[in-house]
Amino acid sequence: MHNAQPTASHFIHGAYVEDSAGDVIDCIYAASGEKIAQVHAATPAVIERALASADSAKAEWAALTGTERGRILRRAADILRARNHDLSVLETLDTGKPYSETSVADATSGADALEYFGGLAGSLTGEHIQLGDDFVYTMREPLGLCVGIGAWNYPTQIACWKAAPALACGNTMVFKPSETTPLCALKVAEILVEAGAPPGVFNVVQGAGTVGAALVGDPRVAKVSLTGSVPTGRKIYAAAAADMKHVTMELGGKSPLVVFEDADIEDAVSGAILGNFYSTGQVCSNGTRVFVQRSIRATFVARLIERLKTVTMGDPLDAATTYGPMVSERQMKIVQGFIAKGIEGGATLAHGGSRVERPGFWLEPTVFTDVTDDMTIAKDEIFGPVLSVLDFDTEAEVLARANATDYGLAAGVFTNDLTRAHRMVKGFQAGTCYINTYNLAPVEAPFGGVKQSGVGRENSKEAIHHYSQVRSVYVGMGPVEAPF
Ligand code: NDP
Repeated sequence: MHNAQPTASHFIHGAYVEDSAGDVIDCIYAASGEKIAQVHAATPAVIERALASADSAKAEWAALTGTERGRILRRAADILRARNHDLSVLETLDTGKPYSETSVADATSGADALEYFGGLAGSLTGEHIQLGDDFVYTMREPLGLCVGIGAWNYPTQIACWKAAPALACGNTMVFKPSETTPLCALKVAEILVEAGAPPGVFNVVQGAGTVGAALVGDPRVAKVSLTGSVPTGRKIYAAAAADMKHVTMELGGKSPLVVFEDADIEDAVSGAILGNFYSTGQVCSNGTRVFVQRSIRATFVARLIERLKTVTMGDPLDAATTYGPMVSERQMKIVQGFIAKGIEGGATLAHGGSRVERPGFWLEPTVFTDVTDDMTIAKDEIFGPVLSVLDFDTEAEVLARANATDYGLAAGVFTNDLTRAHRMVKGFQAGTCYINTYNLAPVEAPFGGVKQSGVGRENSKEAIHHYSQVRSVYVGMGPVEAPF
């Protein structure tokens, strides 16, 4: 029998750990505003225990064969799937996202990552390079102790997306969830141990940015992987640089979604809904700048608003609910501030814009039209349910405007003109592009950004390069010639 809830604040060396000396972090259920649990932030002693545990576990873990490590990850994937219901309920309690989403996008996505990288673990190899009689062979080696730091929008998925490739490559990890959503990563740690991961291979400690900074600054740490905002990314990248630590930075975006007049409008509206209102808009790759060709603008906006009126708000644990609250009061207020700026800046509030009169942190799905490139709502990442419609006339114009941002996480185009679709994706300055769909992130596909949106890639075989390094070995087969 397993507990549906974590039973203490931290998970270190294969077991739950409590240290009530740490500051209390309240877990607030976003759909009601009520406190549902509390954890304690890690004290320096807890941080040290976690780092020492991961450091001591790395040699034994790296010495296993890839197939042995992979078997444990795949077993963990099976357990996540078997407990999907309980884990989805916990994800809903942690984030406020509706069960209709969490039951198909969180533990299941985490399980996909564990299964995929578990499958790859046994086939990680170097290469052989023949040089006449001499030759070079290469070995792909783990980096060592990795630190993972997560945002609050996908606490189970982020923990698994970082743990799976790290562990597959033979690294160990200390993971710090966002203090806003501390619960889910603990279950991932518990399940990995149940699946056979030795103590210390994956540890979880709680706390705010200061705990993250203490982890990043520790000299035993070889690599840091962050999912978070650009300002936090800059700080962590700079701190990691002091010791030449490796980094993966999955940061924010202000991605363009371009809809041409020849697109299937219903599909384009679906793409805009997925790219702006799924998880109440709290998704880094969202296509929040929706460029719509002028000739179809009115039809597109009318249909979008018609469909937004069918959103079902309600108890997020009710499977019929399709739209949840913002994760926290703080995030709701940030988004309300952007909505006010949109109105002040002269955009037309075409739909929504208000807080919903119910307990918790609910904001209506919001659509602005007549948005221009210089408005704050068109430039800054909002990270909430706010879609901006911008008009355009020509392909060259929209491509230039789509790229006129410091971000470069994702970009999408809806068109039935095959060559135009490919011209557009070639022209986009973005790491993750979509043609005639939006915001899908299967584990098989690389995910990540260019420009300020990040460094490195998560998921796919690409992630292996970011959690391992190559050693090359030159083998001399003949006499050694020296000049003197
Ligand atoms: P933050 O950047 O505020 O925080 C991210 C994590 O970093 C949190 O766990 C935070 O701790 C921690 N942290 C903060 N300061 C430091 C520091 N100096 N050193 C070490 N760790 C630190 O982002 P949010 O949690 O607010 O998440 C939203 C942001 O994440 C959005 O901007 C979004 O774009 C981005 N994001 C990117 C994704 C991607 O894959 N590209 C996916 C999802 C979100 P704490 O908050 O607990 O204090």
